Amino acid sequence: MNDNDVYPRTLSELEERFATEEACLEYLFHLRWPKGFVCPRCQCGNNWLTNRGLLVCSGCEYQVSIKSGTIFQGTRSPLVMWFRAAWWVTSQKNGASALGLKRVLGLASYETAWTWLHKFRRAMVRPGRNRLTGRVEVDETYLGGLEEGVRGRGTKKKALVVVAAQEKGKAIGSIRMRRIKDASADSLHPFVFDSIEPGSIAHTDGWEGYTGLEKKGYKHEVTVISRRKEAASELLPRVHRVVSLLKRWLLGTHQGAVSNEHLDYYLDEFTFRFNRRTSRHRGKLFYLLLQQAVQTEPTPYESMIKHVRGRKPTKHKI
Ligand SMILES: [Zn+2]
Repeated sequence: MNDNDVYPRTLSELEERFATEEACLEYLFHLRWPKGFVCPRCQCGNNWLTNRGLLVCSGCEYQVSIKSGTIFQGTRSPLVMWFRAAWWVTSQKNGASALGLKRVLGLASYETAWTWLHKFRRAMVRPGRNRLTGRVEVDETYLGGLEEGVRGRGTKKKALVVVAAQEKGKAIGSIRMRRIKDASADSLHPFVFDSIEPGSIAHTDGWEGYTGLEKKGYKHEVTVISRRKEAASELLPRVHRVVSLLKRWLLGTHQGAVSNEHLDYYLDEFTFRFNRRTSRHRGKLFYLLLQQAVQTEPTPYESMIKHVRGRKPTKHKI
């Protein structure tokens, strides 16, 4: 693929280019093996693609399915549909709801649309992505429920989420976020370590859960906040801006109907969108999403809903 072929620019380009299963398979092949496929059995680099999506080695006839080991494994729906779903998910400024996706694609069931969205969400966070550098604000917040929580403790109704927002002048660079069980050092320190490059500045308030970051290689800048609530948003303004956008998005696009069990994946989707908000081409997001989708292990529908009590898996087509 040359650079001009990397992603479609418009919906009509997408529809024209990915009108057949073969075209979609070919694209996934290039995303999955950008340097070409080398047979693990005979090291041969020659192969052909069957119309069922099998890559066959010319040397020893070893076969590998393009879709196996990706989020598309086991799907009975055409890739043409999946590609349109990926386009829709990435081209909507505020993201997609399951109901919206069901309508746009004319899918048979809500469960199918829901499952597809969750499969894409699992592909939105790249394993081994870079950590944030420079000066980074870190703070936690509660999501869901109306009553105020006691700091540091998770509640049944509410989820505690920690957010890191990179400072870029007065603006926000990239973000990271994670749901945590409490605001202890045991929960906060691993998040800081996974999200921020040691040597960078972690800017927090005076909460005890953040003490000790210097020992882990960070410059720790503490701004002590008075008890007044409005002060927090002034002293760590970027984190608080991200949190208010996140809350608005959960209430708007998803109408507040996000359960705690699945919150992590919504946080991933929000982060994916936020960190690419200045991307000029929506098509680039489509490309990134599919690129990550072929590197993401499949998750069967049943295991996605195993934590949802009182709801039996329904027959569905994925
Ligand atoms: Zn071979």
